[in-house]
Amino acid sequence: MDSPKVKQAIEFATKAHEGQKRASGEPFVTHPIAVAEILLNWGMDEDTIIAAILHDTVEDTERCLQDIKTQFGEQVAFLVDGVTKITHARSGMRDIDTYLPATKDNLLRLLIALGSDIRVLIIKLADRLHNLRTLDALPPDRQKKIAKETLEIFAPLADRLNMGQVRVEMADVAFSYVNPTRYKELKKMIEDHSKNAHKSLLKAERAVGQLLSNEKIKFTISGRLKSIYSLHKKLAKYHQNINEIYDLTALRIIVNDITDCYLTLGLIHSLYTPMGGRIKDYIAVPKQNGYQSLHTTVITKDKSIIEFQIRTHEMHEYAERGLAASFYYNEQKLTENYRTGKIQHLPTNLLWITELQDAAAKLRAGKKIDLNKLKIHLFSDKIFVYTPKGDIIDLPNGALPLDFAYRLHSEIGGTAIGVKINGKMSNLNKKLEQGDVVEILTSKKQTPKSSWFDKLFTSHARQKLRQQLGRAAAQIAHKPEPKTKIETKAETKAKSEAKKSRPKN
Ligand code: MN
Repeated sequence: MDSPKVKQAIEFATKAHEGQKRASGEPFVTHPIAVAEILLNWGMDEDTIIAAILHDTVEDTERCLQDIKTQFGEQVAFLVDGVTKITHARSGMRDIDTYLPATKDNLLRLLIALGSDIRVLIIKLADRLHNLRTLDALPPDRQKKIAKETLEIFAPLADRLNMGQVRVEMADVAFSYVNPTRYKELKKMIEDHSKNAHKSLLKAERAVGQLLSNEKIKFTISGRLKSIYSLHKKLAKYHQNINEIYDLTALRIIVNDITDCYLTLGLIHSLYTPMGGRIKDYIAVPKQNGYQSLHTTVITKDKSIIEFQIRTHEMHEYAERGLAASFYYNEQKLTENYRTGKIQHLPTNLLWITELQDAAAKLRAGKKIDLNKLKIHLFSDKIFVYTPKGDIIDLPNGALPLDFAYRLHSEIGGTAIGVKINGKMSNLNKKLEQGDVVEILTSKKQTPKSSWFDKLFTSHARQKLRQQLGRAAAQIAHKPEPKTKIETKAETKAKSEAKKSRPKN
């Protein structure tokens, strides 16, 4: 952080943000500097570090992109512009419209527009990470909103880039705000379990270590705890039965090469009985995000169940740091490509990033591409739609306008009379599509109808409607008089809260 250019950037940002404070009361400039430090730890290059220091200046201060271009060059200016756009997904969209072919998938469009430099996404992840680390200074409603958005968009994005460490920290911190009670419960569950399992893990660690040493295999072995949010998700899949979760704790063995990985697996199976169906070869068949390892769950002689994860140093590096690690390694190999943000030699399953970059480069050169041929599926089971103000709302694929309405606020759902999709009147049976801009029309005279169950896809919306119908029935039973619904103060407030725009980072 002490090159002249970085110093110059810190000065520039300090002046630009002069007088601005964070919610914590600290000078605002502490935020971009902290983001830059995170990126430095991830091994990112100088342009990225500088762009991080400047990332909020265009949006929040008098400085403009041209100032940055003049002082710090085109690359840095491009990165800062990208981060600003991704913050305003929708307003960025309008800009993109001018040179991108039409497709429904706005997220894809956005990524392509930024895609010629994937470092933009990495800066955005670091920005979000720091905002999460300092989330306690914000009022509770903002905390919840940012935390929720993190679980829905940023943690999956980190996962898609195979940045395991970032994903785990983001998801766990965010989850502790979204559902503090459950978070504490699960944390205790994992701690208790690891205390109980400690002895048998230690025993297995020694036994396996001895065996590997006998075979002259170089290795390191360590325990790893499951992250809280991934336990939460897994428990939901296994009907909350903790006894079906075998990887609360695991032993991770890191060896020098792939041959040693398979040798180690064989040795472990010669010592303990592997559980059927629990041997996973993510080396031969990596996960979608490029993750590689061998996993096996075994039963030891004293009947405890232990998961082993076996991988090489390189695989470990990718699993923890993902895309950022690719940048780091490419710096050594391919200085020129690296400087222009173009990465090569990615693990095969991160090749979609290269594809994204190629597409972006073609577009910039004025060539035509067929977006539908790109095989980039960031979130296959989800669609992202927008409020007219540009807030991103994620819904399961198949969702209908009323699902969207109930998602914004149950009051909006309950008083919906129609919907505009992409500015045109549409109907409530119309399936929403990726990138739609959805506006719900409401009327104070409208009341929730039981016939609406046919127009709902999500269980969340169904549950809200059921509550409303129950309440309405109770009201009629008790006092049949006032038919028009009078909004309480709390409801008006909640409604206006729901309408408020995106969080500012
Ligand atoms: Mn920021």
